[in-house]
Amino acid sequence: MTQGYSVSPIGFMRSCFKEKFAIPRQPQLAPAARGVLELVAPFDQGDAVQGLEQVSHVWLLFLFHQALEDKPRLKVRPPRLGGNQSMGVFATRATHRPNGIGQSVVKLDKVEAGRLWLSGIDLLDGTPVLDVKPYVPYADVIADARNGMAAAAPELIPVQWGDAALAQAREHGVRLEEPLIELIEQCLAQDPRPAYQTPTPERRYGAQFWDLDVRWHYPQPGVICVLEVVPAVGS
Ligand code: SAM
Repeated sequence: MTQGYSVSPIGFMRSCFKEKFAIPRQPQLAPAARGVLELVAPFDQGDAVQGLEQVSHVWLLFLFHQALEDKPRLKVRPPRLGGNQSMGVFATRATHRPNGIGQSVVKLDKVEAGRLWLSGIDLLDGTPVLDVKPYVPYADVIADARNGMAAAAPELIPVQWGDAALAQAREHGVRLEEPLIELIEQCLAQDPRPAYQTPTPERRYGAQFWDLDVRWHYPQPGVICVLEVVPAVGS
């Protein structure tokens, strides 16, 4: 008989990403993507993070809380393969997976009692984090590792700015004290649009970063132009 185990979050992520759309598919793809892991009791005391200041990167183990399912899938269709090819779930890093556990290596920018300041994240705001472990270069870097399905980072596409959108992004970046222009460019250069959609120049896309709605279109295939960066509705 299979025994069940229970786990509970050691903290919750406060992230620049307020919705799943336009989050990079892996960590490190957008170094300007920042957030704070807010630890909960009893891990919010200095003792729990003592020594972490000696570490540049950490592994986060977390729950894909917005993709949890009752019925486990054996095969998934990873966006990386265009969404039309199915693969064994254990061959992919898909969010729909048994136990819904995600893992990301992220940069540790600052340590405080109860708070870890992180960048290069790919976690949604509110993500429950189950554990934090130091990245250990001698064991975690595997120089001759290979992955035939995801051999290299996704190709980037050019991101252009309308004059008004760039001025808005500059202004909000100063207000938020965040590298907002870099964040938007790094995320949109991943081309977040589903691979099966061929966007016309008239079609508008949008996603929320921090408290801002960012809207863009494709003036021609494979090129993004940011149209506006405005306060999100309700913020
Ligand atoms: N690096 C992790 C891993 O390999 O386990 C995540 C990879 S997964 C392919 C990345 C995607 O997870 C992001 O593009 C985002 O849309 C989604 N995501 C991030 N946080 C999530 C959450 N809490 N619930 C559901 N989906 C989430």
